[in-house]
Amino acid sequence: MYHIAIIGSGPAGYYTAEACQKQFGDNVHVDIIDRMPVPFGLIRSGVAPDHQSIKGVSRRYEAIALCDNVRFAGHVSVGQDVTIPELQTLYDAVVLATGAPSDTKLTIAGGDLPGVIGSAAFVGWYNGHPDFAELHPDVDGKAVVVIGNGNVALDVARILAKTGTELSGSDIVGHAYDVLANARPSRITLVGRRGPHQIAMTPKELGELGMLERAAPLVSSSDLPPVEEDAHLDSGHRKSVQLLRQFAAKTPDKPLVVEFDFFAMPVAIEGNGRAERLIVERTTLDDQNRSIGTGERYAIPANLVVSCIGYRTPPIPDVPYDETLGRFANVDGLIAPGLYAAGWARRGPTGTIGTNKPDGFMIAERIAVDIPKPAGKAGREGLDALLGKRGVDLVTFRDWQKIDLAEVSHARDGAPREKFVHVEEMMAAREG
Ligand code: NAP
Repeated sequence: MYHIAIIGSGPAGYYTAEACQKQFGDNVHVDIIDRMPVPFGLIRSGVAPDHQSIKGVSRRYEAIALCDNVRFAGHVSVGQDVTIPELQTLYDAVVLATGAPSDTKLTIAGGDLPGVIGSAAFVGWYNGHPDFAELHPDVDGKAVVVIGNGNVALDVARILAKTGTELSGSDIVGHAYDVLANARPSRITLVGRRGPHQIAMTPKELGELGMLERAAPLVSSSDLPPVEEDAHLDSGHRKSVQLLRQFAAKTPDKPLVVEFDFFAMPVAIEGNGRAERLIVERTTLDDQNRSIGTGERYAIPANLVVSCIGYRTPPIPDVPYDETLGRFANVDGLIAPGLYAAGWARRGPTGTIGTNKPDGFMIAERIAVDIPKPAGKAGREGLDALLGKRGVDLVTFRDWQKIDLAEVSHARDGAPREKFVHVEEMMAAREG
């Protein structure tokens, strides 16, 4: 019997578990270990609460989780409750699928002023992640700047722009719903250091910005390259730029404007004890489409700055780490003999949720090649004995189902669930 431990119960974790089932059939036991008592990582805490159809993929993970040879071991912190070397003595292979939940830091002057928040914290707050329950962002009447031109920046701008009615059918947590349903920013500015042809926003998500109840996008047509140049773009990108062209052709007719400020590189955040304005430098592009400053600077009002400029994988003791890339040091998923990385922890925060599927299959195939025969390790029985001695209160998938039921039964009218935002509440809910 192969014993495989996967750390992280998000998309990369479950796809790797599914791939291991297919690769090894009945000859494998997989433990999916997670720091949280609740599964699904990015699906629960990262995907926007108004994107319920994307969250539906968790039903596929549930089917994997309910197989006899796969187990969810929640509320177990690797590096703290159990170390990587210990897991390696217990399992034939250990796969790190811990995602990239930490912000790339905004390293400009004033980047640590109150009122400056990273997207991990802001998204975690409205998605009910216990680490960010106490964020209390101040939004009402405030000028908000969202830095970045990717899909996370779009999520953040859209959630801030939506009305209570628009948010009511989402699974945004109560504390964020109460703030956002009763608040309206005075303006939202999306700041990109490059231009419309360099955005990392996908058409479906960008299109949503043009269909909001009280907010409308504003794009300056002078930022758009000549239309013939769109021909060089791939079709998805071209569709996104066409949407920007449609936005530019229309004068916003709603009370809240979401303005795209292109070719604007953040250089400092200023204010009297807290963020009041973002100073940007006008940019131009070099022959490789990199942004270069022109020396011209201006200020954008900014009482709240949400920086959406990418993510990093937090290091784990005893695991080789690439500081520059912000993820585990690995070659095609292999970190060290018997130790692997999958998903964002392997390749960085790129692609869609589905991109993690081939990633998981690649790792399962690698394990089969690298470890042709299981070594008779103790697997989950060994883990349970070790955690039992340390008094760790492990949460199973059946426990999660009780937590899940409790969350669904506490939902406000029209919402799919009301998430627990404190680990203690989650632990109490599994008692039924
Ligand atoms: P992303 O797509 O890599 O976008 C990051 C943005 O930050 C880019 O516009 C980048 O600009 C900008 N940036 C980076 N460093 C900067 C700096 N120092 N100053 C100013 N701007 C800076 O990352 P993401 O938005 O975090 O998304 C992560 C992944 O999740 C992506 O694959 C995304 O598609 C996916 N996602 C998908 C959905 C969805 O499908 N609904 C929703 C959310 C996220 P440059 O291009 O100039 O570097």
